[in-house]
Amino acid sequence: MTRPSRVIIDIKALEHNFSRIKELVHNSKVMAIIKADAYGHGIVRVAKTLRNADAFGVACLEEAEQLRIASVTTPIVLLEGPYKPNDLSLIIKLNLQVVIHNEYQLELLEKSKIDGAIKVWLKIDTGMHRLGFSANKTEEILRRLMLCRNINSTPILMSHLATANEKNHTLTYQQLDAFREISKITNIEKTIANSAAVINIPDVHFDWVRPGLMLYGVSPLINSCGHDHGLKSVMTLESEIISIQYLSKGESVGYGAAWRCPENMPVGIIAAGYGDGFPRHAKSGTPILVNNIRCPLIGHASMDMLTIDLRNQSNAKIGDRVVLWGGSLPIEEIALHAETIPYELLCGVHKRLQFVECN
Ligand SMILES: *Cc1c(COP(=O)(O)O)cnc(C)c1O
Repeated sequence: MTRPSRVIIDIKALEHNFSRIKELVHNSKVMAIIKADAYGHGIVRVAKTLRNADAFGVACLEEAEQLRIASVTTPIVLLEGPYKPNDLSLIIKLNLQVVIHNEYQLELLEKSKIDGAIKVWLKIDTGMHRLGFSANKTEEILRRLMLCRNINSTPILMSHLATANEKNHTLTYQQLDAFREISKITNIEKTIANSAAVINIPDVHFDWVRPGLMLYGVSPLINSCGHDHGLKSVMTLESEIISIQYLSKGESVGYGAAWRCPENMPVGIIAAGYGDGFPRHAKSGTPILVNNIRCPLIGHASMDMLTIDLRNQSNAKIGDRVVLWGGSLPIEEIALHAETIPYELLCGVHKRLQFVECN
């Protein structure tokens, strides 16, 4: 018998979400963001499903290489660009496009003798203050890029938003103003929208959008779920009840005796824990679906097990199906209970779990 905990990946939901994005952005091209193993969903599986995307965005060469080895021919953009001089030859070999965001990388491109030429996305810092050239350098950098013989076409102008997931944040307006200002210098293609801006700020879809989280059916906006935006959750994390304890009033459950029974009651033991990527910080009361009914988590998550209050499921038995997130139990809700964000939960799903695709 194999362990009864699995990750179900709903391929149809992924296709649906991609269509939904196309609908929202009309004629803008879509760079589907599939870094971090496609937010934990399996990068090759997701890339093959979304092969009609205009491009894929990945974090590093290893991810891009995985895709090329799997015969994915869609354009791929390295979102952090090259790290080291040696990266350039592999970038050419794998036919990748790169984001250039600092002087170090620009000099690398200008000075390297490489056999071929690369397509470049020029990243400008409009206020996120992580990657990017300062806005007042845009003209100069563009001029240098145009002169660089290792570049094979007009660069695309890019920036990234820090607060698009919050409605009407002043920084978002400052960033968009700055981006529009530098856009006036040149009429090259441009892109700034992540998932939150795809949903929230239609007038900044520009030539390209770069959705990540929403592809997977999850809402990037605070206080909403994917469903509210016409998205379908792609990942379901499920397990089974492997034991039931009938405990007496006052007895404690699990490590640290962190939870005590307020009355005589049944407690279910589930075969999944933080070793699978379920957050240890999920509080008692975090909902877990048992036969489609919500039951509260009690005590702390262990490495391979969770304990739940079965008082509203007195007929539950060993082998019953349990959903930890996905479907009618939004991961956004679990993230709130664990004081984290759905991105972290998705990326943290452990590869020891069995992954099953469904259509
Ligand atoms: C990760 C990332 C995105 C996607 O962000 P979501 O919030 O998941 O839509 C877009 N652009 C860049 C540069 C990124 O690194």
